Amino acid sequence: MIMRNDFKYTEKRKPLPKILLVDDKPENLLSLEKVLKSLDAELIKAESGNEALRKTLDHKFALALLDVQMPEMDGYELAEIMREDKYTENIPIIFVSAIYTDRLNVFKGYEKGAFSFITKPFEPRKLLNKVQFFIDKYYTELAYEESRLKYKDLYNSSPDMLVSLDLETGVIKECNEPLLTNTGHKREEVEKMTLLDLFPEKHKDMAEKAIEDFKKDGELRNIELTIQTKTGDTIEILLNARSLRDKKGRLIMNNFSMSDISEVKETREKLKKALHKVKLQNKDLENFVYLISHDLREPMLTVNSFLELLEEEYGKDIQGEARDYVQYSAMAANRMNQLITNLLEYLRVDHSKKREKVDFNQLLEDVIREMQGSFKKANVTIETGELPTLNINENKSKQLFQNLLSNAIKFRKPDEQLEIKVNAKKKDNYWEFGVKDNGIGIPKRQFQKIFHIFKRVHGRDKYEGMGVGLAICKKIVEGYGGEIWPESEEGKGTTFYFTLPEDGVD
Ligand code: ADP
Repeated sequence: MIMRNDFKYTEKRKPLPKILLVDDKPENLLSLEKVLKSLDAELIKAESGNEALRKTLDHKFALALLDVQMPEMDGYELAEIMREDKYTENIPIIFVSAIYTDRLNVFKGYEKGAFSFITKPFEPRKLLNKVQFFIDKYYTELAYEESRLKYKDLYNSSPDMLVSLDLETGVIKECNEPLLTNTGHKREEVEKMTLLDLFPEKHKDMAEKAIEDFKKDGELRNIELTIQTKTGDTIEILLNARSLRDKKGRLIMNNFSMSDISEVKETREKLKKALHKVKLQNKDLENFVYLISHDLREPMLTVNSFLELLEEEYGKDIQGEARDYVQYSAMAANRMNQLITNLLEYLRVDHSKKREKVDFNQLLEDVIREMQGSFKKANVTIETGELPTLNINENKSKQLFQNLLSNAIKFRKPDEQLEIKVNAKKKDNYWEFGVKDNGIGIPKRQFQKIFHIFKRVHGRDKYEGMGVGLAICKKIVEGYGGEIWPESEEGKGTTFYFTLPEDGVD
C-alpha cells in the first residue's frame, strides 16, 4: 500500500476523489463525515438507497460507504443495483453495519469489485485506514490512466507506422493510425493479420529473418524493406524495432516502427543519376582538355627546338637586348612545355578499375628502393608501422606514396635530419594512413589551396615543382571515396592523412 506521506498525486490540479456516504440516519452521516473530513476527498452524502443512486448519475465515485440496515432498500440491495450498472459496477464498497451477516458472502456483486466491511461502532483509525487505501488506489489509477492516454497520444501522433505483435504467433496486436492510412487496411483487418502479411512475396524472407533476429537480440535497426498496401502498391520503409522488458527480463511489449522512406529513396536515386551524369561530363571535359593539351604540345615543342637552334647557331651574332629576348622566350617556352606535361600527367591519372591485393608494407619498400637516390642525398631516416593489405590499384597507390615522400624530401629543413614516419590504422571500412615529416610545415590558411592543380605555397626559386603532386594524390584518394588532409605547424613539420577503403571500389 502506498503510504500517505510519500503520495505524489495530491497537487491541486488533480480532481479530488469523491466518496459516497449512505446512511438513513443523519447523525450517523455526520459522525462519518467528522472522521473522514481530514482526508483529501470530497464527501457526498445520501440518506437513502434511491438518493444514492441519483447521486451516482451526477458524480463519478472513487468509493461508497453503505450502511447495511436501511428501510426500503438496504445496503446490500443498493450494492447489487450498483453492480448491475456499468457506470457504477466498479465502485469499491465498504459496508458499515452494527452486525456482521453471512449475506455478505452470498452477495451477488461479490466477484465484481473491491469491497470491505466495517462494524459499528467503528474505530475512527480503522475506518480512516480503510478509506485511505481506496483514495490511494484512486490516485494510482488516475496516474496510470494519464500515462496510458499520453502513450496512446504519442503512439497515434507518430509519423511512423507502429505495430506491436504477439511474438509467438506473429499476429498484430495493435497498430497506430498512420499504418491504417498508409496501407488502406481497416483496423479489424490489420488486427487479424501477421506482420509478414504486410510484406510482398519478394521481401517475406528478409522480413521473416528480421523478426527472428529481433526475437534473439530484442532490437532491429534500419532494415530497408518494402511493404504492400491493400491495393497492391508498395511503400519503401525503414524497419526498426525495440522490446520493453520488466526488471525480471520478461517481455512487456514490442514495438515495430516503419518509416516511409519512399521519397528519400527517390531523391537518393535522382542524386545518384545526377552524380553519374556530372561524372560523365567531367570525364568528357577532361578528355577534351587532354586532347587540346596534347595538340598544344606539338607546336610548343617546335617553338622550343627552334629557339634552341637559334641560340646554338646564331647565339654569338645576336647581341644586347635581342639576346635577352631570345633567352626569355626559350625559358617561357620551356615552362609552358612543363606545364602541359604536368597537366597531361594529372589528366592521365589511371582511370583503370583494375584491382589487386596490395600489401602496403611491400609497396612502400618498393617505392623507397626506387627513390633511394633522393633518400641517400637527403639523408632520410624512415620509420614505418604495420601497414594493411588492400584490394586496390597498385600503380595509383604507388603514385600516392611517391608524391607524398618526394614532397617530404623537397620541403625538409636544410639544417635538420629529415625523419619520416608512415603508419596506418583501421577506421570502420577504411584505413587511415599518415605520412609525417619534420620539415618546414604549411601555414593553416593554405591547407585547401595546396590540393588545387598548379597552386603552390613555397616559392619556385627555392623549391622547384609545378604544384601537381597533391592534386594527383587528391584525385586518386577521392576516386576511392576516401579523403586527404594535412595537419601541420609552420617550422615543425607536416602529416598528410588519407583514407582508403579496405575493398577499393572505383
Ligand atoms: P609541388 O611539390 O610540385 O609544389 P604539390 O602539389 O606536391 O606540388 O604541393 C603543393 C604545395 O604544397 C607545395 O608547393 C608546398 O608548398 C606544399 N607542400 C606539399 N607537401 C609539403 C610538405 N611535406 N611540407 C611542406 N609543404 C608541402
